[in-house]
Amino acid sequence: MDSKNKRKTDKKPEQEKAEKQKNAGQKPVCPVFGRCGGCQLLDMPYREQLKRKQHNVERLLDGLCRVQPITGMEDPFHYRNKVHAVFGFQKGGIVSGVYQEGSHRIVPVKSCMIEDEKADEIIQTVRELAGSFKIKAYDEDSGFGLLRHVLVKRGFATGEIMVVLVTASPVFPSRNHFVGALRERHPEITTIIQNQNDRATSMVLGDKERVLYGKGYIEDELCGCRFRISGRSFYQVNPAQTEKLYGKAMELAGLTGQETVIDAYCGTGTIGIIAAARAGRVIGVELNPDAVRDAAVNAKRNHAENIQFYRNDATAFMAGMAAGGERADVIFMDPPRSGSTEAFIRAAAALKPSRVVYISCNPETLARDLKVFKGFGYRAQECWPYDMFPHTEHCENAVLIKRSGNPQM
Ligand code: SAH
Repeated sequence: MDSKNKRKTDKKPEQEKAEKQKNAGQKPVCPVFGRCGGCQLLDMPYREQLKRKQHNVERLLDGLCRVQPITGMEDPFHYRNKVHAVFGFQKGGIVSGVYQEGSHRIVPVKSCMIEDEKADEIIQTVRELAGSFKIKAYDEDSGFGLLRHVLVKRGFATGEIMVVLVTASPVFPSRNHFVGALRERHPEITTIIQNQNDRATSMVLGDKERVLYGKGYIEDELCGCRFRISGRSFYQVNPAQTEKLYGKAMELAGLTGQETVIDAYCGTGTIGIIAAARAGRVIGVELNPDAVRDAAVNAKRNHAENIQFYRNDATAFMAGMAAGGERADVIFMDPPRSGSTEAFIRAAAALKPSRVVYISCNPETLARDLKVFKGFGYRAQECWPYDMFPHTEHCENAVLIKRSGNPQM
């Protein structure tokens, strides 16, 4: 074999791929691609990814409604505003990264192509400082050690940064010095929280929290409203695309300032609060009590006085409203990946809204639910896909559904 050929075959496939991508003007593929499991499509050119998602949504919604062209990102890298790293001990040192898919083996990650770069830097600093402060990473098998996870959240619009140090016990040796050293290295951090999680669980966060620095939460802006994000509250991870998606959802709702609006599966109230300025009144319904509490704080923060939140099952709540003879003009629904249910759709139809705006993160359950809507006389009109999670298989959609008054199965 001559030296030229030898060099060719010596190259690892990832290396060859990375070079090809670099030559094509793309960022090279990540060194842990395929092991981390986070980005399934990272080795596919972004334009191809968008095409694939578009085709997938069109295939699933075939015969149900028209699908508009997908809205992608101009720069589809480093879009995640929330970054999580698990800490552990490997080969004599502290490592931080992600669990290899389907296992509890840590794949060390120093930087990631979809995560916020500042957040990644902070996590690396925590790892280095943990080493110099002789703080041990928690060992799942023996139960020894302190530091389990680090979570960093960043408000892209406000620049505020939260660091959550998840520890196995409340005792944190040299806590103040550690916090001081971290702030010295990253003066941009606005709050630091210690979260205690002493349970043998795959859940990252425990119930007990102690604010070590700052106010214990950060804020971010979305569609002209300001939202509080605490350690445990849910917030969309790609704010740039969320703003576009929610803007479209508002447009589809066609609000004039008079309507009675329901925000079902409302989480921390983002959609309902944005709608409140454009509606007569808004009712938000959510199962999770923490989220409902955050929603009430967020409503106050935005001086939204025409919105009320209820902690309840959305189906039971709407069925109760309908039984009491109430109606709604517009229903926003943003269910989890598993989608909605026939009972929910029946209760929604009983409120006789003229429009339903369905926001979905799973086109498969969306297609299933749109068929059920049809049976209750509600037809999907148009679907707007948004690429909220570039390099992954996920695709978010906003769908306008209108009452046709003509139920058919
Ligand atoms: N619209 C929210 C996010 C919704 S995520 C936002 O933009 O922030 C889906 C939400 O549905 C979760 O908060 C979950 O707790 C809630 N949920 C799940 N099942 C529910 C049910 N049966 N009734 C009410 N809320 C439910």
